[in-house]
Amino acid sequence: MRKFLNIITGLLILFVVGVIYWSFANTEKQVDFPQVNTARIEKTNLWKLLFRDAVEHAYILFPDGTLYHITSYEEHKISLTADYLIEVLKGDKHPINDAVLVIHNHWAYPMFSLTDVRFYHAITNKGFQGHFLLYVLPMGDVKEMGK
Ligand SMILES: [Zn+2]
Repeated sequence: MRKFLNIITGLLILFVVGVIYWSFANTEKQVDFPQVNTARIEKTNLWKLLFRDAVEHAYILFPDGTLYHITSYEEHKISLTADYLIEVLKGDKHPINDAVLVIHNHWAYPMFSLTDVRFYHAITNKGFQGHFLLYVLPMGDVKEMGK
């Protein structure tokens, strides 16, 4: 009987060691191929994060990741002149000609306004070559000046 129990205990130990070895062996397999289609790809939208309050906002992005946020907390305009903006950015060592994109939002009006066109020309005259975008809520359509 005692011999029989020893055999059972021995088999149990073998089983446990086997399971542990097997799980480590499996882990090693995953470590061997960590880059093979294991990444999750999720589609999202940056503008949804940036335009949440019910006012008009503008953002200016630079290649170093600096993002300027501009608003006068008004629903249908941003009280700011292009000249003032250009001066502020220049003073902060981010000249407008380095900007990657400028985006602002409209609530319901789905086109660039005359003011937008004037603003765009004012900054392109100072060397801006990036994307000038409009984000239209509530649908979230994106328009690009000149396209
Ligand atoms: Zn506008």
